[in-house]
Amino acid sequence: MASVPSASVTCTLKLDTKSRKLPTSSLATEKSPTVSYQRNQTITQPNGNSIPLRSPDFREALSMIKDVTKVETSYYVPLLQECIDRNSLSNVQSIHAHVIKTGTHQDIFVMTFLVNVYAKCGTMEEAKKVFDNLPGINVVSWTSLMSGYVQNSQPELAIHIFIDMLEVGAYPTNVTLGTAINACATIGSIKLGKQIHAYVVKYQTEGDASVGNSLCSLYSRCGSLDSAIKTFKRIREKNVISWTTVIGACGENGEAVRGLRCFPKMLSEGVQPNEFTLTSILSVCCTMQSSGVGKQVHSLSIKLGYESNLRVRNSIMYLYLKCGSIDEAQKLFDGKKHVSLVTWNAMIAGHAQMMDLAKDDLSAHNSGTEALNIFSKLNRSGMKPDLYTFSSILTVCSRLVALEQGEQIHAQTLKTGFLSDVIVGTALVNMYNKCGRIERASKAFVEMSTRTMISWTSMITGFANHGQSQQALQLFEDMLLSGVRPNQITFVGVLSACSSAGVVYQALNYLEMMQKDYKIKPVMDHYICLIEMFVRLGRLEEAFNFIKKKNIEPNEVTWSLLVAGCRRQENMELGFYAAEQLLRLKPKDPEIYALLLDFYTSAERWEDVSMVKKIMREEKLGKIQDWSWISIKDQVYSFKSNDESHPESEVYKLLDELIEKAKNIGYQPQLSFELIDEENGEKTFSSTIYHSEKLAVAFGLLNTLSVAPVLVIKSTTMCRDSHNFIKAISSLTAREIIVRDSNRLHKFVDGNCSCRDFGVNL
Ligand SMILES: [Zn+2]
Repeated sequence: MASVPSASVTCTLKLDTKSRKLPTSSLATEKSPTVSYQRNQTITQPNGNSIPLRSPDFREALSMIKDVTKVETSYYVPLLQECIDRNSLSNVQSIHAHVIKTGTHQDIFVMTFLVNVYAKCGTMEEAKKVFDNLPGINVVSWTSLMSGYVQNSQPELAIHIFIDMLEVGAYPTNVTLGTAINACATIGSIKLGKQIHAYVVKYQTEGDASVGNSLCSLYSRCGSLDSAIKTFKRIREKNVISWTTVIGACGENGEAVRGLRCFPKMLSEGVQPNEFTLTSILSVCCTMQSSGVGKQVHSLSIKLGYESNLRVRNSIMYLYLKCGSIDEAQKLFDGKKHVSLVTWNAMIAGHAQMMDLAKDDLSAHNSGTEALNIFSKLNRSGMKPDLYTFSSILTVCSRLVALEQGEQIHAQTLKTGFLSDVIVGTALVNMYNKCGRIERASKAFVEMSTRTMISWTSMITGFANHGQSQQALQLFEDMLLSGVRPNQITFVGVLSACSSAGVVYQALNYLEMMQKDYKIKPVMDHYICLIEMFVRLGRLEEAFNFIKKKNIEPNEVTWSLLVAGCRRQENMELGFYAAEQLLRLKPKDPEIYALLLDFYTSAERWEDVSMVKKIMREEKLGKIQDWSWISIKDQVYSFKSNDESHPESEVYKLLDELIEKAKNIGYQPQLSFELIDEENGEKTFSSTIYHSEKLAVAFGLLNTLSVAPVLVIKSTTMCRDSHNFIKAISSLTAREIIVRDSNRLHKFVDGNCSCRDFGVNL
């Protein structure tokens, strides 16, 4: 089953984007008309004395001009520039008042600059007011207002201004055209962008760097990499922004290698990279997981003096984390004098991502634990986590089933006001779902002030995973009513709910709705839900017919489902066929071979049993790594099967007691199911008496409060014996026990499991 899109993915992407994309302000600075105004370090008073501008004398300078009634217009510019640096709107307003008082508002130069200043301070209404009252409008004023709208995320208004400008017959400069193209890029309107491109061609300004850079960026954003590269090539004098844009374009359009090749070309043409180029190229290295090139870029950045640049350092650290070079990343992290929140977030997100890349569950678990450690260090440092931190760390808690930490983080989000953020809210819903606390997830979902498609999907899938099919389907109907469009993953949740409820008619209807109404092509995960539904209902023939009718190329999961279903129904004929098909796919997962061995053993097909073993040897498949974890307070405890070395002898005592009690209420232990490998005498897999999850559950019962649920993660699929046993003890101890195995979540309450006994092998 596909998992819900995790919020961490979104978050990582955001981090990535941040470090990759050129901030609009940097582009705007290059092209904005302000470049022509040079700021003096001092202003000279009419009496000849100099007023230094740097703080703390800025206030003094301000109060000094207040006292004079006549000021040279050029005095205002450095003062206003300082207001931009300080982002001080109130100071701008008092200077503006002064400008009016001294009659300087008749000066188009100062007033146009003021449009710019208001825009930079984020108040476009004021900027527009000043613009409307300009003593005369020239191309610089038009362009100032346009770039203001682009900077303040109102690109549509920038386009309107551009059209107004053309209508009054003013001629745009290259800077104006670049700004208009940037506006098109922000809206994602390639159509409009192409019209302006035609204008650019007509006036033969395509070779101008500022126009060319904007065009390259427009085509890249709209996904036309070839056009982006063509416009890049036509730029006569490519500057550092041109190169950075084209490298970013390749990276964003899935052509990382191409982007990487641009870099040496840029260096050979004598263009020196800036921090944005370095972060772009590091991001490309990240995509390619190329730590080799990354290291070279790292050395180059030191050589160029960017060693202490925060953005560059964060990108390098992120790259090392992504390539698994934890030590290198840690060294950079420790060596930082100023650690920003972005750095902390990169470290946490990096470790969270390593959980996904880990080769086995144990190392994934270690990475997750490290992410939690970094998070508590961040809290101790006194710095305040933001929404990216929270969503990353909540995802880590979900993966670790670390409910206790998750709850603490929930409280922290409440206190810091981040709970109302939709990303954090969704991560929280997800965390509670993955930790088996469906009621808490549902409460968090209801309390969200806004919900995205991902939050709805997360909750629907949560209900489906907890076997609460009716709630899942009801919520899906609510989602449609509220006008939110479902995606592919939403339908996986819906079909999975139908599967566990066994509602064939509804399932087929939803499959049709998905294709017809939402034009979503079904993928294997959708089909698997339906096949699982037929198998659950024992309608094996229909499962096989469905595969044939839909012309599905079944994968390992599908055939395994069918083999297990046939074994349960004792439909050997279909079972042999499915097993043969499964073997033909040469699976790599030892669990699948365990299933096949069990299947052939139960049919007493000894020849097939030895054949499967032979394949296992050929494929060099080791034993099944059966591990279970439980996290109690800030500690994680892990258990192996028959882990007699474990110091907790009480665990075994309790387990033996529970086995005896469980027998009294009808639990029949399956005698140790052992398959001995004849050749080297090794067990292929071990006896079921002390399976790791039984040990972990017993440990949990001993070490947690009697009201708390016991939460265990297991690296493989649960076997039927453990499943029966844990069902029994959930009723014996009146405790809620949750085991998340490699396939699904099992929530045991009062002797029943949420999977309705379907999700177990053997
Ligand atoms: Zn179950």
